[in-house]
Amino acid sequence: MIEQNSLVEAFYADGEQPRLVPVNLRRDGDELVICDRSDNQILDKWPFGSLLIEEQSAGRLHIALRDLARTAYVEISNDKQVFAFKKLWTDLRTQRQENGVVRLFFWCSAAIVSVVAIFVWVLPNIAGIVVPLIPYHIEQRIGINVEKALFDWFDRADIEIRCSNIAGQSALNKLAGIMVPHANLLDLPAVTVFRAGPPNAFALPGGRVLVTASTLSTIEAPEALMGILAHEFGHIHNRDSMRHVVNVAGVGFVISFLIGDFSGVSLTGILGKEIVGRSYARNQEREADEYALNLLRDTQISPSGLAIFLNDIAANTGGGVFSSHPATSERVAFIQSASQNSSANKKVLSDDEWQALKNICN
Ligand SMILES: [Zn+2]
Repeated sequence: MIEQNSLVEAFYADGEQPRLVPVNLRRDGDELVICDRSDNQILDKWPFGSLLIEEQSAGRLHIALRDLARTAYVEISNDKQVFAFKKLWTDLRTQRQENGVVRLFFWCSAAIVSVVAIFVWVLPNIAGIVVPLIPYHIEQRIGINVEKALFDWFDRADIEIRCSNIAGQSALNKLAGIMVPHANLLDLPAVTVFRAGPPNAFALPGGRVLVTASTLSTIEAPEALMGILAHEFGHIHNRDSMRHVVNVAGVGFVISFLIGDFSGVSLTGILGKEIVGRSYARNQEREADEYALNLLRDTQISPSGLAIFLNDIAANTGGGVFSSHPATSERVAFIQSASQNSSANKKVLSDDEWQALKNICN
């Protein structure tokens, strides 16, 4: 129990007049209050932290302010009062330590709350926080490196993984180019067909799209491929692909890019597998589908090819490592209903161009 109001009898000299005034000392919070013993008037208040306390002899205590400009002092001149003053002083220190413990507890709690907040809120949203800060030219460089990482992961020594038949690539560019005027993208997307895995397509950061060669043998018409590309353009437009990479690779990867140091970051192996294997969030898929349907409508392309393609991959692959955009029944139904309302039937490629595109890997 701390008694703040216990009184200590002492004498006070104000430093100006050569006399000692009998006073009572008491503690008020962190201050030593000096009161005239005769009328209880407060003569002075000194912060405990500024006191210079000297035990000049047994039973005799001299108390002054550290402020040398002040010559006022207090003297306590008997054992009992010295003891009483020391008790005031000790009580103050005890309380300070207790406050210190409370403060320590407070800061520990705050630190724990911060760590929990990092795990509960910051990390799951880290991509949302970081991605808007990444300049597009950096995102483009990241996209090129991620594509390289993916190709390394799919590496096949016996065969060139990238399909580059010139006529096929030019038909592919034509398809993408038809949609670009309505796509509201920063750049013309770079679309590449590559030899790996079951039918699927990926959007990479910086406006890159990869389509597996088996996709071309699965679809019936170029309009279906446009539907697939339109969906991927949606991921590019919404910067989902950049978010996806940040979620998979971590912020350190992006920071290393921002400071121009790419040496310590391995993009191969696990990263490649994670990028193709990890699903987008359901709302990202829905938004990319909505974007695709709007883009197909503005380009006067029927979404029925996309609906059929999704139906096929839902039935045949069930996801596997290429589960980055799961063809859920919800998605298939959404696109099917849009395709039933569409009367678009624009022919986008000649038969020769379509054949060249289908043979892009030959
Ligand atoms: Zn998707």
